[in-house]
Amino acid sequence: MQSGLMNTFQSGIKTRNWAAWAIAIALFAFYILIYFDYALGILGPVAERLGMGIWTLYGLMYTIAMIIGGIYFLHKHGNSRYHQVRTIVVVLVQIIFAFSIPLVMEIFDSKGFILSLFWPLKIEYFYPQNIFTYPLTLVLYAFLSFVIGVPLLTYFYGKRWYCSWVCGCGGLAETAGDPFRHLSDRKAKAWKFEQWSIHLVMFAAFATTAMVIINWSLHHTSPDGQWITQYPLFDSIATTVQKGYQTVVVAMLSGVIGVGLYPLMGTRVWCRFFCPLAAILGIIQKLGRFRITVKPDMCISCGNCSTYCEMGIDVRQYAQNNQSFKRAACVGCGMCAHVCPRGVLRLENKADLRESADKERRPIVDM
Ligand code: SF4
Ligand code: SF4
Repeated sequence: MQSGLMNTFQSGIKTRNWAAWAIAIALFAFYILIYFDYALGILGPVAERLGMGIWTLYGLMYTIAMIIGGIYFLHKHGNSRYHQVRTIVVVLVQIIFAFSIPLVMEIFDSKGFILSLFWPLKIEYFYPQNIFTYPLTLVLYAFLSFVIGVPLLTYFYGKRWYCSWVCGCGGLAETAGDPFRHLSDRKAKAWKFEQWSIHLVMFAAFATTAMVIINWSLHHTSPDGQWITQYPLFDSIATTVQKGYQTVVVAMLSGVIGVGLYPLMGTRVWCRFFCPLAAILGIIQKLGRFRITVKPDMCISCGNCSTYCEMGIDVRQYAQNNQSFKRAACVGCGMCAHVCPRGVLRLENKADLRESADKERRPIVDM
């Protein structure tokens, strides 16, 4: 039974009422305590008392939230094989690759490495000072994944293989965030802002990484381990840019705002407006095979697809115009197809776009 449609706007918490605001404020406060613990020192001692580091405690809480959220999601939407498999995979990736393996690595005294995160989502993976602290196999994995694996998979399957099946940020949005997916802004203004903001952060990620690499190559280390550079001004600018990126993009945009705004602006604020990896995947997706096809003359304009699109895409408009489409933002969650009462929409990545378009007698729009 599809239980998600009729009650969405009847529950106050899903309609930005006082409880939704209270949850948002609590999430803001939690993420500030986590990311700025080095200055505040509040959560660190709590984690220590529990016998773990602050990031291990956070990883544990995050994983538990995804497991509980996954059960909730399956209860609500588990009547689809696609959602069953996708939810189980994304939760297992979190448990195994994002939490357990890094934890075991740390127990054996090496630095934790999350195999399911790639540059520039994990920007420090390409910082030279970190590269030399990881085993060569992990460095090669990070580099080859970004240069070959990620683009190839995205070209063939769209960004859904990552954003809806692997990534922890997307995983939390798809599970614990499900009650808030309809709160995404669908206005054209939001779409315009998204196009600017996400590419700006992508540019910032490239520029920051380049500056850190150049700065590293211009220094040498003294016998007593001091960082010595002939270009102190550039060193100070590069260090400021690196810290600025960490504070603004990683702490504020991905954590405090990205999750804090779940109950007010939907669950994909980070993925849609700011994630630099999503920006790169979106560009490849536009060149690749993945698209959403529309069965002509079937749409009854109920609007379920647009309501449940967590990326704020006005799917109904495409369906009404009988236009199959590619959108850089689409994370391939499949909810639009799932909630459509007429079976109008289909997520496709077959090779021959022309054949598919001919069959439907309509062009695939690429916007
Ligand atoms: S268009 Fe459909 S598949 Fe793409 S993000 Fe929106 S709901 Fe998910
Ligand atoms: S495509 Fe389906 S869900 Fe979307 S408006 Fe048309 S009938 Fe409704």
